[in-house]
Amino acid sequence: MSKTVKRIMSVILAVVMLLGCTSAAFAAYGCNCGTSPLIVVSGMAAWPLVQDEGTENEKQVFAPDTESILKLVGEIAGPLALFAVNKDYNKLGDSLIPALKEILEPLACNADGSSKYNITTDIYPESMASYPEFANNTEFTANEPAVVREAVEKIGADHVYYFNYDWRLDPMEHAKELRKYVERAKEETGHDKVNLAGASMGGTIIASYLAMYGSDNIDNFTMLSSAFTGTTIVGNLFNGRLEINKEGLIRILKEVVGVEAVNILFDALDKAGVFDILVNFADSLFANLQDRIYDEVFQDTFITMPGIWDLIALEDYEDAKAYLLDPRTDAALIARIDNYHYNVQAKLPELLEEAMENGVKVNVVSHYNMQGVPITPSYNEQNDNVIDTKYTSGYAVCAYLDETLPEDYKQQNTVCKDATHNHISADRIIDASTCLLPEQTWFLKNQKHVGYMYHTELMDFILMLCLGDTQYTVDNTQQYSQFMEVDPKTGELSIIGAIGGEEPSEPETTTEVVESTETEPTETETEVTEPTDTEPVETETEEDTTEVTETETTETETQPSETVSVPDETQTEPTEEATEPDVGSSETALDEQTEETSNDNSQQTQAVDVGDSLIAIVPFGAACAALVLTVKRKRNKI
Ligand SMILES: [Zn+2]
Ligand SMILES: [Zn+2]
Repeated sequence: MSKTVKRIMSVILAVVMLLGCTSAAFAAYGCNCGTSPLIVVSGMAAWPLVQDEGTENEKQVFAPDTESILKLVGEIAGPLALFAVNKDYNKLGDSLIPALKEILEPLACNADGSSKYNITTDIYPESMASYPEFANNTEFTANEPAVVREAVEKIGADHVYYFNYDWRLDPMEHAKELRKYVERAKEETGHDKVNLAGASMGGTIIASYLAMYGSDNIDNFTMLSSAFTGTTIVGNLFNGRLEINKEGLIRILKEVVGVEAVNILFDALDKAGVFDILVNFADSLFANLQDRIYDEVFQDTFITMPGIWDLIALEDYEDAKAYLLDPRTDAALIARIDNYHYNVQAKLPELLEEAMENGVKVNVVSHYNMQGVPITPSYNEQNDNVIDTKYTSGYAVCAYLDETLPEDYKQQNTVCKDATHNHISADRIIDASTCLLPEQTWFLKNQKHVGYMYHTELMDFILMLCLGDTQYTVDNTQQYSQFMEVDPKTGELSIIGAIGGEEPSEPETTTEVVESTETEPTETETEVTEPTDTEPVETETEEDTTEVTETETTETETQPSETVSVPDETQTEPTEEATEPDVGSSETALDEQTEETSNDNSQQTQAVDVGDSLIAIVPFGAACAALVLTVKRKRNKI
């Protein structure tokens, strides 16, 4: 009898356990832990891209594997030696270009921005409970994997997910996949919302998700040195604005390597003139082989990737399209990247506002005082080695590297209208009053791109934001403040503090503010609250949304965004137009805009004329940037 009971009991138990494994059962019970599951959305090139995975032809195509690199070196070593004698750039090109083409061709996309070849990357569709070798990997000491690892320790492996993707492709396509992760995380954990953390390019996917599906399923999202409002480097490269800066090159090498002994070596090499030779060689190589490299290699590779296009900020976007794309032959790609730029990036102010009205907690983390990749004229802008501070912060005003905002500079209060707030960093480098979210944007000085280190105060701070079930602001973030300096070795934070705000002796600061309203990065409040026209992206939740919008956006060719300089040396501001792109609406609006910006265009034409001779360097620069990113990531810096 008791045996039978035991047997029945164990059968029942087994059934219950089986049910327990299904998401439905979990969802039915819910979870009382108080912290929504976290989905970490990785940055660009977190893991290799592989061609024909699982077949005998399997090959890593990005970053190029050692075999490919050695092959390239082997193929150009001879011609390079010959070049040293005859200085014949075309002969060198005859070897270099086909070798380069062979390495990059597998990365090409089709005319519509889909992958041309069978390329895959590592994905982790289940919670980290299914990947203990990832979740507990002690080699993960920095960057997204370290965030995942530490989050697993804090809230449990079954509450942490990691979303990785093919960085070449459309973030709006990735958002569809992310939605599946969100649904799965909800079902498996029994929570009704999730937390999203987007590192670097990951921010473009979270922004796409918001535009396509809204924020109902989101508890909290955090942008971590994210490209959600763009990057200058891709915008410059895709506009032919290329400039190699020697000092910047040495500085970034030092920052990336970060070893004093090696710094001394760099200085010695510089004194010996090595960097001059390198920079001069690169300059003449570009000048001589630009057209060929462009036509024979990059037109069919980097220029075909929507993921790279969507890293361009609005202010550079239309120029880049005019510069590199043909409205007819590239129509499908244009439709795709227009959709992102005008229904996601340009709508960020509304998207963030709507999310917050919906009770979502939103945080932005931006880094500064680091050298960007110095191959474009923006080499001296505040950066984190990869993305400009003005974009990772959602449009802060920043002094150039090694400079400060002018002495008489007053915070612009274009978004935070409260003149009594202090949004200028005490080191006078950042004015956060112009950010999309001035009260929810934190700045980390001397912090590398993403780069959050395991078991540090820095990581505690990041996870506090990413997992927060209350909305922190720069004034109520426990022991933290809006501006903090990071010790690159220990990850300890020290408060820099903020200055600015209204000075009692000068109550007439409003005049200055009025003066600078032209440069407002976001629309006025009225625009935010203004009911938006019926945008399919915002109103629909079906996956077809993108398709619908794509067709509409094909017609919008000219949405030039106006770049207005601040009257002093501070950086250019995000655009006014950026926030009013009526995609798919009447042509009149477009015409008006075109007229408004005609002055700008003439200036740009000049710039393009100068840049014309550089046209082929554009994609080469993109490749350099991508390679630098990869090398840096390999060193655990991204
Ligand atoms: Zn829970
Ligand atoms: Zn404020």
